Amino acid sequence: MTVDCLRCRECGREYPAEIRNTCEACFGPLEVVYDWDDVDVTREEIEDGPASIRRYVDLLPVENEDSFAQVDLGTGRNGLHRADNLADELGIDEVYILNDSVNPSFSFKDRVTAVAVARAIDFGVDAIGCASTGNLASSVAAHAAKADLPAYIFIPDTIEEGKITQTLAYEPEIVPVDGNYDDANRLATEVADDNGWGFVNINLRPYYTEGSCTMAYEAAEGLGWESPDHVVHPMAAGASLLSVKRGYENLERLGLIDDSDVRMSGAQPEGFPIARAVRDDAPVEPVDDYETLAHSLAIGNPADGFYAKDAINETGGYAADPDDDAIVEGIKLLASTEGLYTEPAGGTTIAGLKQLADEGHIGEDETVVVNITGNGLKAEETVSQYVDVPESISPSLTEFENRNKEDKKVTAQ
Ligand SMILES: *Cc1c(COP(=O)(O)O)cnc(C)c1O
Ligand SMILES: [Zn+2]
Repeated sequence: MTVDCLRCRECGREYPAEIRNTCEACFGPLEVVYDWDDVDVTREEIEDGPASIRRYVDLLPVENEDSFAQVDLGTGRNGLHRADNLADELGIDEVYILNDSVNPSFSFKDRVTAVAVARAIDFGVDAIGCASTGNLASSVAAHAAKADLPAYIFIPDTIEEGKITQTLAYEPEIVPVDGNYDDANRLATEVADDNGWGFVNINLRPYYTEGSCTMAYEAAEGLGWESPDHVVHPMAAGASLLSVKRGYENLERLGLIDDSDVRMSGAQPEGFPIARAVRDDAPVEPVDDYETLAHSLAIGNPADGFYAKDAINETGGYAADPDDDAIVEGIKLLASTEGLYTEPAGGTTIAGLKQLADEGHIGEDETVVVNITGNGLKAEETVSQYVDVPESISPSLTEFENRNKEDKKVTAQ
């Protein structure tokens, strides 16, 4: 769809739709402004479109459909799983899982990267890149490979080995930084500026964040063009929660759904700024010193924290803040009830769903969509310390039966 301009979320100043993400006047974040009168799309046209996020091209800031096709790895359309076992376990009426753990690079980041890289191709940049907590690294590297562009990937040197191994396979320029995500991000910003490169979550950020709207589009389409009552979404910087909310609003504006009355709730590991601010009803304060199993959500200074908190409050949602033990339980709960295996970010979201249900923030009769954003195989080394592998037996029937008897004894006690 045609992008009219970029507009500052704070002061309203407008800029041409180019590579830029901050307002010169007030340093506020820039957002894409569309020409909505130009959009004319029906449910049927979308349903007949490609089996990837490209079916929503009329609702995305991509003007050149060829560029989009050029980097389309088949992201999205992973199905909306009705999760009755999980719903029963938690005493909720209807729960659906949007399963982004099976995107091409195994996280939801493929949605945002695909849109930003399509746009970068149109801008004719010489290289792309990002600062990443892990998942964006592999997603950008994958899309750079497909687009045949060099990629510069800045990561904190603490991220999971599994994620680095995957990223290296795509052969980008990977730059581990001795520091945390916020340090890597600062350096990447300077490098992008200095070289005129397009870094997806930095100077292409206004386009990038729009990719997350497709989670709302898919969920609504999966529910037969209706909005759910409640969405539970993980938060790092808070950007995608905002975009998902906007996605439902866009659908309503275009008459593709009747109303976009969705309560947005966020899940973030204990101690992180956005969830803490919502729960304490206090301003979002950055944290410097942090530790969590959920590395992909570990952003101490969330760029969209203030706005995400606002969106949560405004829609009547709430925030959950599970600790590491609860996060691991969340991973196991989703796997053991629904057969879906997620990384700690998804564990945070499921633990968040449980916490919100236990605390009474999710109504029993609500239809809830839970956005699961990353694959369990990405972070096994982080979680492996929390699981017990049973002792081996010799390959004999008697030993198996003895073992089973002992199991029964244990359960009978
Ligand atoms: C990036 C990411 C998120 C959300 O990030 P925001 O910065 O809040 O948009 C959620 N889950 C996973 C697995 C991620 O990689
Ligand atoms: Zn401004």
